Amino acid sequence: MMKNKVALVTGGTGGIGTEICKALSSASCHVAASWLAGVDDGESWLAKCRKEGFDFAIAEGDVSDFDAAAAMVKEVETKLGPIDILVNCAGITKDSFMHKMEKDQWDAVLRVNLDSVFNVTRSVIMGMRKRGFGRIINISSVNGQKGQVGQTNYSAAKAGMHGFTMALAQESARKGITVNTVSPGYIATTMVAAMGEKTIQKMIAQIPVGRLGEPEEIARVVSFLAADESSFITGANIAINGGMYMG
Ligand code: NAD
Repeated sequence: MMKNKVALVTGGTGGIGTEICKALSSASCHVAASWLAGVDDGESWLAKCRKEGFDFAIAEGDVSDFDAAAAMVKEVETKLGPIDILVNCAGITKDSFMHKMEKDQWDAVLRVNLDSVFNVTRSVIMGMRKRGFGRIINISSVNGQKGQVGQTNYSAAKAGMHGFTMALAQESARKGITVNTVSPGYIATTMVAAMGEKTIQKMIAQIPVGRLGEPEEIARVVSFLAADESSFITGANIAINGGMYMG
């Protein structure tokens, strides 16, 4: 059950984030999506979702910036009320071999994928502790579990997310808060489409199930973890990768 819970999905306007917003809304949550000016257009995303029958709140903000993340959370809480469910889904890649990687590629990926998890969670955790309930779900990646050529930055950030999950899960367990990681494999979104058809076919050859995953397949697991009834699952790292990596 999640009826009337308030959920914030960072990167909620993205390929996976959109399906997470829809799944939580279908489970009767009040859902807010964060978006980033210059990367997305929150208003057009919202208009499209409304046409499909989904109504969300939106809040703009750069989650890699501590103060901007805090302001974005405040805006959501003003619109919808205290946040019960946080899905840290915002992420980017800036791939390069280590011997060619620029410092700004490293910094950007660590800030958006990992610092953001601190920034946004820090703004909601006190309220969750006081109210004795919370669900925090961090969207990592198979490449945080197994490493990937050209992604020392992304693999480090995504592995770091699960370290954060395990530590916070222990700190929060007696407060009714669960903290889990979901690690998708290759999912059919624009992030993967950007790799190009040849690379995608090479990837598919490494996936035992023989296809890319669908964003909905990530969303249904997030929705499962967010439910009241999932209170005994904490500190877990759920792999959804078509058998590509079985850690
Ligand atoms: P996407 O590019 O469609 O969405 C990413 C979202 O993050 C966008 O809404 C974007 O606006 C937001 N974002 C980026 N930088 C931001 C910032 N500084 N502040 C606020 N928001 C910011 O990507 P996606 O494929 O939907 O990926 C979602 C998450 O899933 C990411 O964390 C990604 O690393 C992870 N993931 C994706 C795949 C995949 O195959 N697509 C696989 C494994 C993990």
